[in-house]
Amino acid sequence: MAKSSKQYCSFCGKSKEETLILIAGIDGHICENCVAQASQIINEELATSSSNFSIHDQQLLKPKKIKEFLDQYVIGQDEAKKILSVAVYNHYKRLQLGSDKKNEVEIEKSNIIMVGRTGTGKTLLAKTVAKFLNVPFTIVDATVFTEAGYVGEDVESILSRLLQVCNYDVKAAEKGIVYIDEIDKIGRKSDNPSITRDVSGEGVQQAMLKLLEGTEVLVPPQGGRKHPEQKLIKLNTQNILFICGGAFEGIERIIAKRMKANAIGFNIPDEVSGAIDNNNLLQYVAPPDFRQFGLIPELIGRLPVVTFLNPLDAKTLRAILIEPRNALIKQYTKLFELEGVTFEVEPEAIDFIVEKAIEFELGARGLRSICEAILNEAMFTIPSEKNVKKFTLTLDYAKEKITKSKLNLLRMAS
Ligand code: ADP
Repeated sequence: MAKSSKQYCSFCGKSKEETLILIAGIDGHICENCVAQASQIINEELATSSSNFSIHDQQLLKPKKIKEFLDQYVIGQDEAKKILSVAVYNHYKRLQLGSDKKNEVEIEKSNIIMVGRTGTGKTLLAKTVAKFLNVPFTIVDATVFTEAGYVGEDVESILSRLLQVCNYDVKAAEKGIVYIDEIDKIGRKSDNPSITRDVSGEGVQQAMLKLLEGTEVLVPPQGGRKHPEQKLIKLNTQNILFICGGAFEGIERIIAKRMKANAIGFNIPDEVSGAIDNNNLLQYVAPPDFRQFGLIPELIGRLPVVTFLNPLDAKTLRAILIEPRNALIKQYTKLFELEGVTFEVEPEAIDFIVEKAIEFELGARGLRSICEAILNEAMFTIPSEKNVKKFTLTLDYAKEKITKSKLNLLRMAS
Protein backbone atom coordinates (compact mmCIF):
# COMPACT_ATOMS: atom_id res chain seq x y z
CA MET A 1 0.00 0.00 0.00
CA ALA A 2 1.29 3.49 -0.83
CA LYS A 3 2.66 5.52 2.13
CA SER A 4 0.37 8.47 1.31
CA SER A 5 -2.68 6.45 2.29
CA LYS A 6 -1.51 6.46 5.96
CA GLN A 7 -3.31 9.12 7.96
CA TYR A 8 -1.39 11.77 9.97
CA CYS A 9 -2.41 14.91 11.85
CA SER A 10 -1.46 17.68 9.44
CA PHE A 11 -0.58 19.94 12.42
CA CYS A 12 1.56 17.83 14.79
CA GLY A 13 2.39 14.93 12.50
CA LYS A 14 1.11 12.17 14.84
CA SER A 15 -0.16 9.08 13.09
CA LYS A 16 -3.71 7.84 13.45
CA GLU A 17 -2.59 5.16 15.93
CA GLU A 18 -1.05 7.77 18.23
CA THR A 19 -4.25 9.82 18.50
CA LEU A 20 -7.72 9.23 19.91
CA ILE A 21 -9.60 11.04 17.19
CA LEU A 22 -8.34 12.18 13.82
CA ILE A 23 -10.76 14.53 12.07
CA ALA A 24 -10.59 14.62 8.27
CA GLY A 25 -10.68 17.88 6.33
CA ILE A 26 -10.67 18.48 2.57
CA ASP A 27 -6.94 18.23 2.29
CA GLY A 28 -5.64 17.00 5.64
CA HIS A 29 -6.40 15.85 9.17
CA ILE A 30 -6.37 17.25 12.71
CA CYS A 31 -6.06 15.35 16.00
CA GLU A 32 -7.93 16.01 19.25
CA ASN A 33 -4.86 17.60 20.91
CA CYS A 34 -4.40 20.13 18.14
CA VAL A 35 -8.12 20.98 18.19
CA ALA A 36 -7.89 21.69 21.94
CA GLN A 37 -4.77 23.79 21.50
CA ALA A 38 -6.28 25.76 18.63
CA SER A 39 -9.38 26.41 20.68
CA GLN A 40 -7.27 27.74 23.55
CA ILE A 41 -5.36 30.08 21.22
CA ILE A 42 -8.62 31.41 19.80
CA ASN A 43 -10.08 32.07 23.25
CA GLU A 44 -6.95 33.87 24.41
CA GLU A 45 -6.82 35.99 21.27
CA LEU A 46 -10.47 36.95 21.54
CA ALA A 47 -10.09 37.88 25.19
CA THR A 48 -7.13 40.18 24.58
CA SER A 49 -8.59 41.76 21.47
CA SER A 50 -11.82 42.65 23.28
CA SER A 51 -10.03 44.27 26.21
CA ASN A 52 -7.64 46.00 23.85
CA PHE A 53 -10.57 47.49 22.02
CA SER A 54 -8.76 50.15 20.11
CA ILE A 55 -10.10 53.12 18.31
CA HIS A 56 -6.66 53.27 16.66
CA ASP A 57 -7.42 50.10 14.75
CA GLN A 58 -10.82 51.24 13.72
CA GLN A 59 -11.57 52.96 10.49
CA LEU A 60 -13.43 55.88 12.00
CA LEU A 61 -16.41 56.84 9.91
CA LYS A 62 -16.83 60.44 8.83
CA PRO A 63 -19.28 62.80 10.58
CA LYS A 64 -21.78 62.47 7.71
CA LYS A 65 -21.89 58.71 8.20
CA ILE A 66 -22.30 59.13 11.97
CA LYS A 67 -25.27 61.42 11.33
CA GLU A 68 -26.79 58.95 8.87
CA PHE A 69 -26.63 56.32 11.60
CA LEU A 70 -28.26 58.67 14.11
CA ASP A 71 -31.00 59.43 11.54
CA GLN A 72 -32.12 55.80 11.72
CA TYR A 73 -32.99 56.10 15.40
CA VAL A 74 -33.57 59.77 16.16
CA ILE A 75 -36.15 61.86 14.35
CA GLY A 76 -35.39 65.53 13.60
CA GLN A 77 -32.88 67.32 15.85
CA ASP A 78 -30.62 67.87 12.84
CA GLU A 79 -28.54 70.58 14.44
CA ALA A 80 -27.81 68.48 17.53
CA LYS A 81 -26.99 65.45 15.37
CA LYS A 82 -24.50 67.43 13.28
CA ILE A 83 -22.80 68.94 16.29
CA LEU A 84 -22.65 65.59 18.05
CA SER A 85 -21.31 63.82 14.95
CA VAL A 86 -18.46 66.29 14.62
CA ALA A 87 -17.69 66.26 18.36
CA VAL A 88 -17.56 62.49 18.47
CA TYR A 89 -15.47 62.31 15.31
CA ASN A 90 -12.99 64.83 16.69
CA HIS A 91 -12.90 63.10 20.04
CA TYR A 92 -11.83 59.84 18.48
CA LYS A 93 -9.43 61.58 16.08
CA ARG A 94 -7.87 63.04 19.20
CA LEU A 95 -7.47 59.53 20.59
CA GLN A 96 -5.73 58.43 17.41
CA LEU A 97 -3.29 61.33 17.65
CA GLY A 98 -2.84 60.82 21.38
CA SER A 99 0.00 58.34 21.28
CA ASP A 100 1.94 60.21 18.60
CA LYS A 101 4.49 62.24 20.55
CA LYS A 102 5.56 64.20 17.43
CA ASN A 103 2.37 66.20 17.55
CA GLU A 104 2.86 69.69 18.91
CA VAL A 105 -0.79 70.55 18.70
CA GLU A 106 -2.75 68.88 21.42
CA ILE A 107 -6.42 68.54 20.63
CA GLU A 108 -8.58 69.21 23.64
CA LYS A 109 -11.42 67.03 24.78
CA SER A 110 -14.81 67.75 23.25
CA ASN A 111 -17.22 67.02 26.08
CA ILE A 112 -20.73 68.02 25.15
CA ILE A 113 -23.66 69.78 26.82
CA MET A 114 -27.16 69.44 25.41
CA VAL A 115 -30.15 71.59 26.34
CA GLY A 116 -33.69 70.52 25.61
CA ARG A 117 -37.00 69.78 27.22
CA THR A 118 -37.64 66.39 28.72
CA GLY A 119 -38.39 63.62 26.25
CA THR A 120 -36.91 65.34 23.21
CA GLY A 121 -34.18 62.76 22.61
CA LYS A 122 -31.10 63.86 24.60
CA THR A 123 -30.50 60.46 26.18
CA LEU A 124 -31.47 58.68 22.98
CA LEU A 125 -28.85 60.67 21.03
CA ALA A 126 -26.09 59.88 23.51
CA LYS A 127 -27.11 56.22 23.61
CA THR A 128 -27.19 55.97 19.82
CA VAL A 129 -23.73 57.51 19.47
CA ALA A 130 -22.39 54.87 21.87
CA LYS A 131 -24.15 52.15 19.89
CA PHE A 132 -22.54 53.47 16.71
CA LEU A 133 -19.07 53.43 18.22
CA ASN A 134 -19.62 50.14 20.02
CA VAL A 135 -18.15 51.53 23.23
CA PRO A 136 -19.40 51.09 26.80
CA PHE A 137 -22.12 53.56 27.69
CA THR A 138 -23.86 54.55 30.87
CA ILE A 139 -26.45 57.07 32.00
CA VAL A 140 -26.21 58.74 35.39
CA ASP A 141 -28.39 61.29 37.07
CA ALA A 142 -26.44 64.25 38.40
CA THR A 143 -28.86 64.76 41.27
CA VAL A 144 -27.74 61.62 43.12
CA PHE A 145 -24.29 63.03 43.79
CA THR A 146 -23.29 64.93 46.84
CA GLU A 147 -20.40 66.74 48.31
CA ALA A 148 -18.30 64.89 50.82
CA GLY A 149 -20.18 64.83 54.09
CA TYR A 150 -23.67 64.63 52.67
CA VAL A 151 -25.70 61.52 52.15
CA GLY A 152 -25.62 60.28 48.57
CA GLU A 153 -23.19 58.93 46.04
CA ASP A 154 -19.65 60.05 45.40
CA VAL A 155 -19.07 61.58 42.00
CA GLU A 156 -16.59 58.80 41.19
CA SER A 157 -19.44 56.32 41.23
CA ILE A 158 -20.35 57.65 37.76
CA LEU A 159 -17.46 55.51 36.64
CA SER A 160 -18.52 52.47 38.67
CA ARG A 161 -21.50 52.16 36.41
CA LEU A 162 -19.35 52.44 33.32
CA LEU A 163 -17.11 49.69 34.68
CA GLN A 164 -20.11 47.53 35.49
CA VAL A 165 -21.52 47.69 31.95
CA CYS A 166 -18.25 46.41 30.51
CA ASN A 167 -17.67 43.77 33.14
CA TYR A 168 -14.90 45.72 34.86
CA ASP A 169 -12.79 45.81 31.71
CA VAL A 170 -10.81 48.95 32.60
CA LYS A 171 -9.37 49.44 29.11
CA ALA A 172 -12.82 49.36 27.51
CA ALA A 173 -14.30 51.68 30.15
CA GLU A 174 -11.52 54.19 29.54
CA LYS A 175 -12.87 54.72 26.02
CA GLY A 176 -16.52 54.80 26.93
CA ILE A 177 -19.23 57.44 26.90
CA VAL A 178 -21.02 58.73 29.99
CA TYR A 179 -24.30 60.60 29.76
CA ILE A 180 -24.91 62.80 32.80
CA ASP A 181 -28.57 63.76 32.98
CA GLU A 182 -30.10 66.68 34.87
CA ILE A 183 -26.87 68.64 34.92
CA ASP A 184 -29.02 71.75 35.44
CA LYS A 185 -30.02 70.50 38.89
CA ILE A 186 -26.60 70.79 40.53
CA GLY A 187 -26.36 74.54 40.24
CA ARG A 188 -24.86 76.71 42.92
CA LYS A 189 -27.64 77.68 45.25
CA SER A 190 -27.24 81.43 45.13
CA ASP A 191 -27.48 81.62 41.34
CA ASN A 192 -30.34 79.22 41.07
CA PRO A 193 -33.70 80.25 42.45
CA SER A 194 -35.39 76.97 41.45
CA ILE A 195 -33.04 74.70 43.36
CA THR A 196 -34.96 72.00 45.16
CA ARG A 197 -32.12 70.31 47.03
CA ASP A 198 -30.84 71.89 50.17
CA VAL A 199 -27.23 70.99 49.40
CA SER A 200 -25.24 73.37 47.29
CA GLY A 201 -24.06 71.63 44.15
CA GLU A 202 -20.80 73.51 43.92
CA GLY A 203 -18.76 70.77 45.58
CA VAL A 204 -20.24 68.25 43.21
CA GLN A 205 -19.30 70.46 40.29
CA GLN A 206 -15.75 70.81 41.60
CA ALA A 207 -15.47 67.04 41.88
CA MET A 208 -16.84 66.64 38.40
CA LEU A 209 -14.23 68.97 36.92
CA LYS A 210 -11.46 66.47 37.41
CA LEU A 211 -13.40 63.67 35.78
CA LEU A 212 -14.36 65.75 32.77
CA GLU A 213 -10.89 67.03 32.20
CA GLY A 214 -9.12 63.69 32.35
CA THR A 215 -7.39 62.30 35.37
CA GLU A 216 -6.68 59.09 37.23
CA VAL A 217 -9.58 58.32 39.51
CA LEU A 218 -10.04 55.68 42.17
CA VAL A 219 -13.42 54.16 41.62
CA PRO A 220 -15.50 52.18 44.11
CA PRO A 221 -16.37 49.05 42.07
CA GLN A 222 -19.89 48.76 43.47
CA GLY A 223 -20.66 52.47 43.29
CA GLY A 224 -22.20 54.42 46.14
CA ARG A 225 -19.82 55.96 48.63
CA LYS A 226 -16.20 55.05 49.14
CA HIS A 227 -15.40 53.02 52.25
CA PRO A 228 -11.91 52.81 53.72
CA GLU A 229 -11.95 49.00 53.52
CA GLN A 230 -13.17 48.91 49.93
CA LYS A 231 -10.73 47.96 47.18
CA LEU A 232 -10.76 50.74 44.57
CA ILE A 233 -10.15 50.43 40.84
CA LYS A 234 -7.88 52.94 39.11
CA LEU A 235 -9.34 54.44 35.95
CA ASN A 236 -8.09 57.17 33.64
CA THR A 237 -10.83 59.47 32.35
CA GLN A 238 -8.71 61.19 29.72
CA ASN A 239 -10.43 59.44 26.82
CA ILE A 240 -13.91 59.08 28.24
CA LEU A 241 -16.40 61.26 26.45
CA PHE A 242 -18.85 63.02 28.76
CA ILE A 243 -22.17 64.19 27.41
CA CYS A 244 -24.29 66.26 29.77
CA GLY A 245 -27.93 67.05 29.33
CA GLY A 246 -30.56 69.12 31.04
CA ALA A 247 -33.88 70.85 30.50
CA PHE A 248 -32.61 74.19 31.89
CA GLU A 249 -36.16 75.33 32.35
CA GLY A 250 -36.56 79.03 31.67
CA ILE A 251 -33.25 79.34 29.81
CA GLU A 252 -35.07 80.99 26.89
CA ARG A 253 -35.64 84.06 29.07
CA ILE A 254 -31.93 84.23 29.84
CA ILE A 255 -31.00 83.83 26.18
CA ALA A 256 -33.48 86.53 25.18
CA LYS A 257 -32.11 88.91 27.79
CA ARG A 258 -28.52 88.31 26.72
CA MET A 259 -29.32 88.75 23.04
CA LYS A 260 -31.26 91.94 23.66
CA ALA A 261 -28.42 93.34 25.74
CA ASN A 262 -25.94 92.44 23.03
CA ALA A 263 -28.09 93.98 20.34
CA ILE A 264 -28.22 97.25 22.26
CA GLY A 265 -24.59 97.16 23.41
CA PHE A 266 -23.21 96.62 19.94
CA ASN A 267 -25.68 98.89 18.27
CA ILE A 268 -27.03 96.10 16.13
CA PRO A 269 -29.53 97.47 13.62
CA ASP A 270 -33.17 96.51 14.02
CA GLU A 271 -33.32 94.52 10.79
CA VAL A 272 -30.57 92.23 12.11
CA SER A 273 -31.96 91.83 15.59
CA GLY A 274 -35.38 91.39 13.95
CA ALA A 275 -34.04 88.26 12.22
CA ILE A 276 -33.95 86.50 15.57
CA ASP A 277 -36.40 83.62 15.68
CA ASN A 278 -38.22 84.32 18.93
CA ASN A 279 -40.18 81.09 18.71
CA ASN A 280 -37.10 78.96 19.16
CA LEU A 281 -34.60 80.84 21.25
CA LEU A 282 -32.91 77.65 22.37
CA GLN A 283 -30.98 77.58 19.11
CA TYR A 284 -28.98 80.60 20.30
CA VAL A 285 -27.89 79.00 23.56
CA ALA A 286 -24.33 79.87 24.53
CA PRO A 287 -22.03 78.96 27.45
CA PRO A 288 -22.69 82.13 29.51
CA ASP A 289 -26.38 81.22 29.75
CA PHE A 290 -25.54 78.24 31.96
CA ARG A 291 -24.00 80.48 34.60
CA GLN A 292 -27.41 81.76 35.50
CA PHE A 293 -28.28 78.20 36.49
CA GLY A 294 -25.43 78.11 38.94
CA LEU A 295 -22.99 76.10 36.84
CA ILE A 296 -19.51 77.27 37.69
CA PRO A 297 -17.42 78.73 34.84
CA GLU A 298 -14.78 76.00 35.17
CA LEU A 299 -17.38 73.31 34.57
CA ILE A 300 -18.89 75.20 31.64
CA GLY A 301 -15.38 75.52 30.21
CA ARG A 302 -14.96 71.76 30.25
CA LEU A 303 -18.12 71.28 28.23
CA PRO A 304 -17.05 73.20 25.14
CA VAL A 305 -19.52 71.70 22.67
CA VAL A 306 -22.94 73.22 23.22
CA THR A 307 -26.08 72.13 21.44
CA PHE A 308 -29.83 72.14 21.79
CA LEU A 309 -32.84 69.97 21.02
CA ASN A 310 -36.02 71.34 19.57
CA PRO A 311 -39.35 70.84 21.29
CA LEU A 312 -41.26 68.08 19.50
CA ASP A 313 -44.21 69.22 17.37
CA ALA A 314 -47.08 67.01 16.23
CA LYS A 315 -45.39 66.12 12.94
CA THR A 316 -42.22 64.98 14.71
CA LEU A 317 -44.11 63.02 17.36
CA ARG A 318 -46.06 61.26 14.62
CA ALA A 319 -42.83 60.37 12.84
CA ILE A 320 -41.31 59.12 16.12
CA LEU A 321 -44.26 56.76 16.53
CA ILE A 322 -43.85 55.11 13.16
CA GLU A 323 -40.50 55.79 11.53
CA PRO A 324 -37.38 54.93 13.56
CA ARG A 325 -35.92 51.44 13.32
CA ASN A 326 -37.40 50.56 16.68
CA ALA A 327 -40.44 52.86 16.49
CA LEU A 328 -43.17 52.11 19.04
CA ILE A 329 -45.72 51.04 16.45
CA LYS A 330 -43.13 48.68 14.93
CA GLN A 331 -42.51 47.23 18.37
CA TYR A 332 -46.22 46.60 19.03
CA THR A 333 -46.62 45.13 15.55
CA LYS A 334 -43.83 42.69 16.37
CA LEU A 335 -45.34 41.83 19.75
CA PHE A 336 -48.71 41.01 18.16
CA GLU A 337 -47.00 39.16 15.30
CA LEU A 338 -45.39 36.87 17.86
CA GLU A 339 -48.94 35.95 18.92
CA GLY A 340 -49.82 35.24 15.28
CA VAL A 341 -51.91 38.42 15.14
CA THR A 342 -51.73 41.12 12.46
CA PHE A 343 -51.73 44.55 14.07
CA GLU A 344 -52.97 47.62 12.21
CA VAL A 345 -53.48 51.21 13.33
CA GLU A 346 -55.84 53.70 11.74
CA PRO A 347 -54.13 57.00 10.90
CA GLU A 348 -56.73 58.82 13.03
CA ALA A 349 -55.71 56.75 16.04
CA ILE A 350 -52.09 57.79 15.49
CA ASP A 351 -53.17 61.45 15.36
CA PHE A 352 -55.08 60.96 18.60
CA ILE A 353 -52.04 59.46 20.39
CA VAL A 354 -49.94 62.42 19.22
CA GLU A 355 -52.59 64.88 20.38
CA LYS A 356 -52.58 63.31 23.84
CA ALA A 357 -48.77 63.34 24.04
CA ILE A 358 -48.80 67.09 23.37
CA GLU A 359 -51.53 67.59 25.93
CA PHE A 360 -49.60 65.73 28.65
CA GLU A 361 -46.39 67.67 27.85
CA LEU A 362 -44.11 64.67 28.28
CA GLY A 363 -42.45 64.88 24.88
CA ALA A 364 -41.93 61.57 23.15
CA ARG A 365 -41.71 59.92 26.56
CA GLY A 366 -45.50 60.29 26.82
CA LEU A 367 -46.08 58.30 23.63
CA ARG A 368 -45.09 55.06 25.31
CA SER A 369 -47.38 55.52 28.32
CA ILE A 370 -50.29 56.49 26.08
CA CYS A 371 -49.78 53.46 23.82
CA GLU A 372 -49.53 51.20 26.86
CA ALA A 373 -52.75 52.62 28.31
CA ILE A 374 -54.55 52.05 25.01
CA LEU A 375 -53.16 48.63 24.17
CA ASN A 376 -52.88 47.00 27.56
CA GLU A 377 -56.33 45.42 27.45
CA ALA A 378 -55.73 43.95 23.98
CA MET A 379 -52.31 42.64 24.99
CA PHE A 380 -53.91 41.07 28.05
CA THR A 381 -56.78 39.26 26.34
CA ILE A 382 -55.53 38.44 22.83
CA PRO A 383 -52.88 35.86 23.84
CA SER A 384 -55.66 33.68 25.32
CA GLU A 385 -57.98 34.01 22.34
CA LYS A 386 -57.27 31.39 19.72
CA ASN A 387 -59.43 32.80 16.93
CA VAL A 388 -58.17 36.37 16.81
CA LYS A 389 -55.93 36.81 13.80
CA LYS A 390 -56.12 40.56 13.37
CA PHE A 391 -56.40 43.58 15.64
CA THR A 392 -57.06 47.06 14.27
CA LEU A 393 -56.59 50.01 16.56
CA THR A 394 -59.35 52.47 15.69
CA LEU A 395 -59.84 56.03 16.88
CA ASP A 396 -62.91 55.08 18.92
CA TYR A 397 -61.08 52.23 20.65
CA ALA A 398 -58.14 54.52 21.50
CA LYS A 399 -60.47 57.22 22.85
CA GLU A 400 -62.38 54.77 24.98
CA LYS A 401 -59.26 53.29 26.56
CA ILE A 402 -57.73 56.69 27.29
CA THR A 403 -60.93 57.96 28.88
CA LYS A 404 -60.90 54.98 31.23
CA SER A 405 -57.19 55.14 31.96
CA LYS A 406 -55.45 56.78 34.87
CA LEU A 407 -53.44 58.86 32.42
CA ASN A 408 -56.31 61.29 32.25
CA LEU A 409 -55.54 62.20 35.84
CA LEU A 410 -52.29 63.71 34.60
CA ARG A 411 -54.22 66.42 32.85
CA MET A 412 -56.43 67.06 35.84
CA ALA A 413 -53.39 67.33 38.08
CA SER A 414 -51.70 69.91 35.87
P1 ADP B 1 -34.61 63.17 27.19
O1 ADP B 1 -33.29 62.54 27.53
O2 ADP B 1 -34.45 64.35 26.27
O3 ADP B 1 -35.47 63.49 28.36
P2 ADP B 1 -35.11 60.66 25.90
O4 ADP B 1 -33.99 60.61 24.92
O5 ADP B 1 -34.98 59.80 27.11
O6 ADP B 1 -35.44 62.14 26.33
O7 ADP B 1 -36.46 60.28 25.15
C1 ADP B 1 -37.47 59.51 25.72
C2 ADP B 1 -37.99 58.52 24.69
O8 ADP B 1 -38.68 59.24 23.68
C3 ADP B 1 -36.88 57.77 23.98
O9 ADP B 1 -36.69 56.50 24.47
C4 ADP B 1 -37.36 57.69 22.55
O10 ADP B 1 -38.08 56.50 22.36
C5 ADP B 1 -38.31 58.80 22.37
N1 ADP B 1 -37.74 59.96 21.64
C6 ADP B 1 -37.50 61.18 22.15
N2 ADP B 1 -37.08 62.03 21.21
C7 ADP B 1 -36.98 61.31 20.08
C8 ADP B 1 -36.57 61.62 18.75
N3 ADP B 1 -36.16 62.85 18.41
N4 ADP B 1 -36.61 60.62 17.83
C9 ADP B 1 -37.03 59.38 18.17
N5 ADP B 1 -37.45 59.03 19.40
C10 ADP B 1 -37.42 59.98 20.35
